[in-house]
Amino acid sequence: MKAEIIAVGTELLLGQVVNTNATFLSEKLADAGIEVYYHTVVGDNPRRLEQLLMEAQKRSDLIVLCGGLGPTDDDLTKDTVAAHIDHLLIQDEQALDRLHDFFAFSKNQMTENNLRQTLMIEGGIAVQNPTGLAVGTLITVEETTYLLLPGPPNELKPMFTQHALPLLEELFPQKEQLISRVLRFYGIGESQLVTELKELIDTQTNPTIAPYAKPNEVTLRLTAKVVDQAQGKQLLDILEAQVMTQVGEYFYGYGDDNSLVKVTVEALKEHGKTVSAAESLTAGLFQSTLGDVAGVSEVFKGGFVTYSAQTKQEFLGIDQKLLEKEGVVSKACAIAMAEQARNRSGADFAVSFTGVAGPGELEGQSAGTVWIGLAEKGQPAVAECYHFNRERNYIRQSAVMKGLDLIRRAVTKKK
Ligand code: ATP
Ligand code: MG
Repeated sequence: MKAEIIAVGTELLLGQVVNTNATFLSEKLADAGIEVYYHTVVGDNPRRLEQLLMEAQKRSDLIVLCGGLGPTDDDLTKDTVAAHIDHLLIQDEQALDRLHDFFAFSKNQMTENNLRQTLMIEGGIAVQNPTGLAVGTLITVEETTYLLLPGPPNELKPMFTQHALPLLEELFPQKEQLISRVLRFYGIGESQLVTELKELIDTQTNPTIAPYAKPNEVTLRLTAKVVDQAQGKQLLDILEAQVMTQVGEYFYGYGDDNSLVKVTVEALKEHGKTVSAAESLTAGLFQSTLGDVAGVSEVFKGGFVTYSAQTKQEFLGIDQKLLEKEGVVSKACAIAMAEQARNRSGADFAVSFTGVAGPGELEGQSAGTVWIGLAEKGQPAVAECYHFNRERNYIRQSAVMKGLDLIRRAVTKKK
């Protein structure tokens, strides 16, 4: 059972629109146990679409097309597929009724080309569109199944989930399904992670392990092909335990969109702790990152941006003599900033950032040198020096991630 996805639209080739439909469809199909082997994008061009259909028909059992079901002349997917399989287009009565209702209700003028949206391929099953006007088609010809869906994601998604997927599940009943789990790591690079897990990765066939590197973090997707959920969970639990014995120290959370900042905020909430910050080179980026998380107000009241030596003195009361003697890029300065930020905000924790974002040097220290301080209520503040690579904003971003990780670890530390 092989499937592929063809997204139709010149706007996709021009880079004006991201092909999120392919991501969505692939994920849903995988969940249904239907494996997707190819993603392609083709412009609004009947000849090239026809060429692609010829190829796709040879290699795939299911071809999902999205885009080009609209009313205008460049919307040619239906005509091209119909011609390819030598079928006619016919009016779908239900879609036609909806079209009339829509225009009667909106008082807009219906134009002749709107009728095109109610056409489906003769001999197929109409796939109704709960949030739009264009009707889709599901049709099987000579052992190849074609599914036609519109381009707008807000139409494609409900059509696929509510109407197309149940039909596909009937057409392609699955004995096995794919179940996956995402593990997230901070503080270890992709190459090192893969090296640590080399033996596991080399020997695993089911579940499989797929690493994915993002700026400043790595995720591992564990995927099991199983008959039922319980068996899948068991297989994933075993593999996860093996992964954790090797690299558990760097693990911070599960899930596709569970970022380090979310996990940190959750940890603070769970322990009933608050956080503040004093930021020099990050210039508020740490606090802004906290602000990305809904509900952060419970754990974050505010903090300081002290970019210059003067504001370090004025906002935080740091002794001018300390700054002159030790420099602003120093352990002493990072400790004083963290301590003062905590004192002045009354938070349980405070983190501080002072360093060289670059491109040039500062106080004779090279770009990427960053001191990060951590103050915790009832304990002496500490600071460590880090060396981050690459350009200015990557350095600032790296510093923020490190600060989040320090807070997360401090909050969850067993006392
Ligand atoms: P319409 O009736 O809106 O014309 P359509 O089925 O003809 O629908 P297209 O004209 O191909 O679809 O695309 C309409 C819009 O849908 C695009 O401008 C784009 O914003 C969005 N879109 C199209 N294809 C994709 C895709 N693969 N991923 C994400 N968005 C898409
Ligand atoms: Mg269109």
